[in-house]
Amino acid sequence: MAEAAKLKVSDQVAISIQNMNKWYGSFHVLRDIDLTVYQGERIVICGPSGSGKSTLIRCINALEEHQKGSIEVDGTLLSSDLKNIDKIRSEVGMCFQHFNLFPHLSILDNLTLAPIWVRKTPKKEAEEVAMHYLEKVKIPDQANKFPGQLSGGQQQRVAIARSLCMKPRIMLFDEPTSALDPEMIKEVLDTMIELAEEGMTMLCVTHEMGFARQVANRVIFMDEGQIVEQNEPEEFFNNPQSPRTQLFLSQIL
Ligand code: ADP
Ligand code: MG
Repeated sequence: MAEAAKLKVSDQVAISIQNMNKWYGSFHVLRDIDLTVYQGERIVICGPSGSGKSTLIRCINALEEHQKGSIEVDGTLLSSDLKNIDKIRSEVGMCFQHFNLFPHLSILDNLTLAPIWVRKTPKKEAEEVAMHYLEKVKIPDQANKFPGQLSGGQQQRVAIARSLCMKPRIMLFDEPTSALDPEMIKEVLDTMIELAEEGMTMLCVTHEMGFARQVANRVIFMDEGQIVEQNEPEEFFNNPQSPRTQLFLSQIL
C-alpha cells in the first residue's frame, strides 16, 4: 500500500451531509445524500458523467443551493445566511477542471488578490505566503509571469497554490486533471499527493483511479444523483458490490 493511503484519519467530523436533496428546477439531481467526512480523509468520488458529482462538490461550499436536508462544514450549518457561507468558504478551498486564473494578473497577484482584499492581509505578508505556496507546488520562478505564459499543469498548480493561500481546512477538487495533457497530469497529482501526506482533508472528483488506489482512504461511486456504493479502495476496485459500480469500473479500468 502506498504511503499516503496509510495516513491516519481523525474521529473529528469535517463535513456532515444528511439526507441532502437538490433539484435544478424540476430535475432531481441529488437524492438523499448521506455523507460524513472525517478530518484527514482523502475521498475520491467517481461515477458516470451527469451523475451529480460536480453538483455535490458545489453544494458543499454553497456554489449551489440544496433544497432539503443539511450540510455542516466544521460544525457550521450551511444555510442561506451569508455569514455562514462566508465562514464555510473560508475553510473550504476549491480547485476546478478549468483553472479560472485571472489572465490579466501576474501569478503572484492571482495568489495575493483574495488574501489582500478579502482577508485584509498586508501585501508584504500575502506575498510571502504566496511565495511559500508557489515553492510548495514547485514553480516559484513563475511568480511574475502571466497565466497564459504557463503550461496547463503549471496553471493548475497555481490554482491549487491560490486556494492554499487562504489556509483552507478542506480541499475540494473537481476533475483537476481532466483538461490537462497526459504529461502534465502527474505533476498535478503529485501536488495533490503531497497535500494528502500533510493531512489535508480532501474530496476529489477524478477519473484517475491510480490516484484513488494510491491516496484515497475511501472511494465513493455515484450514479443518477445517489451514492450507490463506497468502500476502501482495495475492496472497491477488487470487489465492487453493485452491478452499476461493476459496469462503471469495467468501462474505465
Ligand atoms: P457530473 O459532475 O457527475 O458529470 P453534474 O453534477 O455536473 O454531474 O450534473 C448532474 C446533472 O445535472 C446532469 O444531468 C446535468 O446536466 C445537470 N445539471 C448540471 N448543472 C445544471 C444546471 N445549472 N442547471 C440544470 N441542470 C444542471
Ligand atoms: Mg462534473
